[in-house]
Amino acid sequence: QQDTKAIQALDSAHYIHPFTDHGDLATRGARVMTHADNIYVWDSEGKKVLDGMSGLWCVNAGYGRKELADAAYQQMMTLPFYNSFFQTTNVPAVQLATKLAALAPKVGDRSFNHVFFSSSGSESNDTNVRMARRYWDLMGQPQRKVIISRNNAYHGSTMAGASLGGMSGMHAQGDLPIPNITHIEQPHYWENARGGETPAEFGVRAARWLEEKILAIGPDKVAAFIGEPVQGAGGVIIPPETYWPEIQRIVDKYGILLIADEVICAFGRLGHWFAYEKFGMKPDLVTFAKGVTSGYIPLGGVMVGNRVADVLIAKGGEFNHGYTYSGHPVACAVALANLELMEREGLVDRVKNDTGPYLAQRFAELKDHPLVGEAETCGFVAGLVLVKDKVQRTMFDPDLAVGMICRGHCFRNGLIMRAVGDRMIIAPPLVMTRAQIDEMMGLIRLCLDATLDDLRS
Ligand code: PLP
Repeated sequence: QQDTKAIQALDSAHYIHPFTDHGDLATRGARVMTHADNIYVWDSEGKKVLDGMSGLWCVNAGYGRKELADAAYQQMMTLPFYNSFFQTTNVPAVQLATKLAALAPKVGDRSFNHVFFSSSGSESNDTNVRMARRYWDLMGQPQRKVIISRNNAYHGSTMAGASLGGMSGMHAQGDLPIPNITHIEQPHYWENARGGETPAEFGVRAARWLEEKILAIGPDKVAAFIGEPVQGAGGVIIPPETYWPEIQRIVDKYGILLIADEVICAFGRLGHWFAYEKFGMKPDLVTFAKGVTSGYIPLGGVMVGNRVADVLIAKGGEFNHGYTYSGHPVACAVALANLELMEREGLVDRVKNDTGPYLAQRFAELKDHPLVGEAETCGFVAGLVLVKDKVQRTMFDPDLAVGMICRGHCFRNGLIMRAVGDRMIIAPPLVMTRAQIDEMMGLIRLCLDATLDDLRS
């Protein structure tokens, strides 16, 4: 008890947290997480919590995996750091780039033989902006600078990452977006479909917002379109099946680069090593981070497709871009151990063919709950919308903060579930078993009932 209070006092005195209201934090005190195992984390009061969010969508292999710690230790004792600037390299970085190139499926005429490393998703998306513009410079079309993204997307917190993102709250702080980044509406059927429109019809209409935008800007000025295959932080927005094939048709028609931001979606989260193959996308650049090391150590990067890599390498000269920790040997060694573990345990296949479909079945059962307007899953991400009236499709007054009420009940009942407005979302570790899915679903239902009771009283 004493320790918790002391740590909370030091925390609020010295630590500026990401995405946190510090007034609120000072009053209530941060929850101090102390240790973790498998799909559970414990706080300093000894409370065990089922982590329905894999930390921040990243602990795909679950907590307490000794081989990942061993890989870090061995590498630290061998070569803890060396840079890959100026024609040097290191063995784990080379092995990881080779491994990722082998895991990334070839689609149509697109293959991925090259990787650029960073330490995060945000840095990787900054890399994408610079790489896409560099590509067009080298192609003799330097006027192609505009990157189109989507409202409510999340692509990171750096200046370019937050600009690519479509979160108005982030744009309002720091004078964003930076020039030549613009947005279209997200493909959210529940919110944006017209009465009577089928998901398939809506998917095509939503994709055509991109074509309208391209034509408004002028096709010869557009460098790239970026999107998460399934929008994560925006609330797990799963697009209709028709959406990405129509986007692909449009980018192909105008010769625009396609960037798939798979920081959440890759490494088994959607039941595939890379999610683009599931959605009929043929991206030129693919952002990854998080699950590549199961979050045990920071690592991110960009899979660079042959269309871009061939030009950058053949005509590029020096690409004036890089990070101290690009290709960090310890991070790469941990990633290699993580991918090996995931292969050995068949985690990607398990999500695709066993636990993913089971989660979908159990989640669909929630639709009988009076608060639940929509409940969808895709692999091991899931979202449900809390609604006032599911027949009339009306939402609660945002001032009621129903999502936060539900999140509070989850917190108290030992479940981490995230609230995005009134969308409740989960992304559990991929090691979760069927029995653990049942345990999680029991907690979710309990928290929905408690939220309903609060609203009725
Ligand atoms: N892109 C997507 C799709 C993300 O979900 C995130 C983080 O949640 C990022 C980029 C940013 O990654 P990072 O926080 O590692 O910079």
